[in-house]
Amino acid sequence: MNKIAITIPKVINIKYSKAMEFSNPNNARKINRLRMLNVLLEEGPLTRADLSRRLVLNKISISEIANTLLKEGLITEGDKTSSSKDGGRPGTILKLDAQRAYVLAVDLGFSVLRFAIADLTGSVIRYERLPLEKNTDLAYQIITTLKRIVKTNNKELLALCITVDGEVDNKTGQILKARQFINDPYPLKAKLNELGLTIPITLTTQLQAEVKAEKMFFKQSLASFLFVNWGEFLSSAFITKTETLENMEFAHINVVSQGLCHCGSIGCLDTLASGWGYKNQSLNKQGTPYTVKQLSQTPGGEEIIKQGIDKLGKALALSICATGAKAVIMGGGISSLPDSYFSLLKETCQLALPNHLSTTPLYRGNFK
Ligand SMILES: [Zn+2]
Repeated sequence: MNKIAITIPKVINIKYSKAMEFSNPNNARKINRLRMLNVLLEEGPLTRADLSRRLVLNKISISEIANTLLKEGLITEGDKTSSSKDGGRPGTILKLDAQRAYVLAVDLGFSVLRFAIADLTGSVIRYERLPLEKNTDLAYQIITTLKRIVKTNNKELLALCITVDGEVDNKTGQILKARQFINDPYPLKAKLNELGLTIPITLTTQLQAEVKAEKMFFKQSLASFLFVNWGEFLSSAFITKTETLENMEFAHINVVSQGLCHCGSIGCLDTLASGWGYKNQSLNKQGTPYTVKQLSQTPGGEEIIKQGIDKLGKALALSICATGAKAVIMGGGISSLPDSYFSLLKETCQLALPNHLSTTPLYRGNFK
């Protein structure tokens, strides 16, 4: 559930980065408008004088932006304070009206579609998880569900953010690939527009959304880190201050000499340590395709999980050496396994690292 929640407040940031050309006065106005909304979101109510200091803008500009936002109803005026937040002169406070409008999020997983409606602070107001109907047109399925769940809310919908477990092209609004489900480019944005959806749509991968969220919410500042999505399938990215390099091949590092992977190769890491791999192994060894959680509660299941963890730990060590990452953040559902498993992963990885890197920390992500 959190994973959906965290992609929402970022809609503002995504627009922000798109409008980065400051030289254009129109863009500068848009950016300052978003900066004001972001400051009010992060710091709470502020006076115009506070805002002027925060945004390093003169009072006339602040008033202009504030008046537009007041007219649009995105912010409201509160009481006159005896002094400003910074201890300055008294003034009327401005605050974000978080319930004024909503943003929507849709997450396209391997077998489920997850929907969330959130207010402007990113708090989820409504959440639904539905099986993905592979014989129904995807855009149609999304629209009918959205219509149903937003029907009761007559507030303005500002934007829709769609995350996909696969590959996307946000510029053309196409899903390029979504596991075994979509193999040819699928024009999702165009189809949603055809079906009458006119709000701005952002299309991104689950991995990109998770990385963005970890960057925003992680307590420490890291010079670089390796992010691994440990879920139905494994994927990873190497993140520096300026770049995010996705590595879809992480799942297909060769770790054993047998076992057919969904990619067609033999012995990939995914066959032993992903949700998909664990399901296959429990089907072969125990006759039932257990999820990792179920497997951890099954006799003999612990051994299967530990074997995967052993290979994953070593693959992490290899990636740390190759990238020079200063830390690893493990996201995805499987990283929420009990502490004993996570400790084992840490130990295996650190033991496999050369001495000078053996203290590289492994963290659990904030979102599962
Ligand atoms: Zn493979």
